[in-house]
Amino acid sequence: MTNADSMPAIPTTDAVRPVALTGDRATGPLHLGHYAGSLRTRVALQDTHRQYLLIADMQALTDTMHDPAKVGRMADEIVLDYLAVGIDPDRTTICLQSALPALAELTMLYLNLVSVARLERNPTVKEEIGLRGFGRAVPAGFLCYPVSQAADITAFRATAVPVGSDQLPMIEQTNEIVRSLNRLCGTAVLPEARAVLSGAARLPGIDGTGKMSKSRGNAIALSASPDAISQAVRAMFTDPAHIRAEDPGRVDGNVVFSYLDAFDPDADLVADLKDRYRRGGLGDSTVKRRLDEVLQEALRPIRERRKALAADPAIPAGVLARGTQDARQVTGAVARDVRRALGLRLT
Ligand code: ATP
Ligand code: MG
Repeated sequence: MTNADSMPAIPTTDAVRPVALTGDRATGPLHLGHYAGSLRTRVALQDTHRQYLLIADMQALTDTMHDPAKVGRMADEIVLDYLAVGIDPDRTTICLQSALPALAELTMLYLNLVSVARLERNPTVKEEIGLRGFGRAVPAGFLCYPVSQAADITAFRATAVPVGSDQLPMIEQTNEIVRSLNRLCGTAVLPEARAVLSGAARLPGIDGTGKMSKSRGNAIALSASPDAISQAVRAMFTDPAHIRAEDPGRVDGNVVFSYLDAFDPDADLVADLKDRYRRGGLGDSTVKRRLDEVLQEALRPIRERRKALAADPAIPAGVLARGTQDARQVTGAVARDVRRALGLRLT
């Protein structure tokens, strides 16, 4: 939590608080990567920032248009994940992207400030296009989703964006759009944003092939059952050359150690395990047993809080409705400012 720790410690009043905005695609339940990469930072930002969390259902549709009902169902699941990890709806506004027309409006405007060549150069989008096997049939919405993210960030005038490192190219693209718009208007209509990265800004998936992602089947959900956690730990990628316990093993690129670094509160113990593993004499099963313990301990309270909240479906629905109503005011006013600054007619 290095970046979050460096935020001002003294709570400030709403009027002077900087704005933080981030969100999650409504493609599946949140996982350990979200927790280590962004959710812990978001919980800390509640003390220092005016924070908005956006459930990105429109962005989810850019690769899940074949199953829109799933996207609809996921919205409430993600609200439950937020509440279970300690997001407080009285201090953080939780809102639904598709119910905020100003975001679609700003996206349409910004699309004229970005070239197709620039969109095709975005490294995260390039990687995701490859992983999804779109070939030449890339949905136009998918290619353009960084522009819709620029709309999301700027519609709240956010300056802090707590994200994983896969999102850095999106913030860069957002700031390019902001600079173009401000130049065009001859005034600083919108602020630039910066990423707030955590120490675990790219948690690998359990198979070790890339980042943990909802859509890659390599995730441990925050709501996973104790059995599902143990099963995932057993299947986890370690060092394929570490066959017998007495063999020296590799720690770099070994998923079990990446997770221990991110979640084990006992850093000295992890350092000792790494040492013994590197030297030889420590079996995968011993390290995995420790990780299983650590993850069971970390996820039990989250799962229990989530279960209690899920018993009343009016809770997530109410939180989302209330937050979306607030966000509609804020984003509507910003979109109006942008139209005015551009010299467009307002009615
Ligand atoms: P999808 O596969 O649908 O894209 P995802 O798992 O990548 O889902 P997103 O909704 O795209 O999750 O990302 C939400 C936020 O969580 C972003 O800020 C992203 O950077 C962060 N995040 C996602 N996966 C990880 C990870 N493995 N490690 C750290 N941060 C992550
Ligand atoms: Mg993603």
